[in-house]
Amino acid sequence: MSEPLLRVDGLVKHFHVGGWPQAQVVHAVDGVSFVLDRGETLGLVGESGSGKTTVGRCILRLIEPTDGQVIFDGHDLVRLSAGEVRKLRPRMQMVFQDPAGSLNPRFSVWRILNEPYKRFDLLPKDQVRGAILQLLADTGLQPADLEKYPHNFSGGQQQRIAVARTLAPKPDLMVLDEPTASLDVSVRMQIIDLFQELQRQFNLAYLLISHDLSVIRHVCNRVAVMYLGRLVEVAPAADLFAHPKHPYTQALIDAVPIPDPAMRHERTPLKGEVPSLISPPSGCHFHPRCPLAVDRCQVEVPTLRTVEPDWDVACHLVEG
Ligand code: SF4
Repeated sequence: MSEPLLRVDGLVKHFHVGGWPQAQVVHAVDGVSFVLDRGETLGLVGESGSGKTTVGRCILRLIEPTDGQVIFDGHDLVRLSAGEVRKLRPRMQMVFQDPAGSLNPRFSVWRILNEPYKRFDLLPKDQVRGAILQLLADTGLQPADLEKYPHNFSGGQQQRIAVARTLAPKPDLMVLDEPTASLDVSVRMQIIDLFQELQRQFNLAYLLISHDLSVIRHVCNRVAVMYLGRLVEVAPAADLFAHPKHPYTQALIDAVPIPDPAMRHERTPLKGEVPSLISPPSGCHFHPRCPLAVDRCQVEVPTLRTVEPDWDVACHLVEG
């Protein structure tokens, strides 16, 4: 079997907050492991504060991981020097939630799209204009847009510009951090369709971070569910949505609104707030909110184990 494009193994990220004598540790990511193949979309879901975005940023070394391995196409990014990571950077890109915030308002579209060619020295100068025109065509923009500025565009069009910029260095991996969350509902699916079309065209691997389970269900091959810095379930998307095994995944899916009244069923809403990452609950982090918790759950950390082929769950009560 060929090696996956990305292998994350035991990823840990702790933040130190406050000063002496009250310094505290935020356990944002606590031993996360998964793989991502070329051309695959893995969804990373969980409530806000679960550590999804921190995982995405650690993978790209936008923030320094505390421990663990991030193997990208055979390179352990955590052990590489900053200079060595910079050389790989063109192949790993990130699309942010707020396109307006990620585009310099004083730069024209031409300057925004030209910037990666200059920074990474991607092409001879006489080939750059043709490449930029191709980026516009690939992302549904027009040549006339090159003279305009970000404020001349809608949110959806701004996200197309941001995506076009990330495509310039021909990446293999894109981390999409809530890429449609700030957009009107009417344009969300257009942007999702764009991502899917680009994936088909360029065999891109996506790590899609989102709290929107309808988007995750629509586009992901597999889904990884995070709770308080740990993965609790990883499975093919269709199986996970049809028969979630972990009580937290079940509650998340139960909370998704179902438009068809005939399909609605009894819900088990998630009770309580997400606990603090500074002092997470002992044992299974989910035990204070879990309707099935037993004594063992308070003291023993459930490990993520394979319960069926291609299906991993971290719960003492799930057999397999
Ligand atoms: Fe619930 Fe226990 Fe399973 Fe955690 S290990 S999800 S508390 S049953």
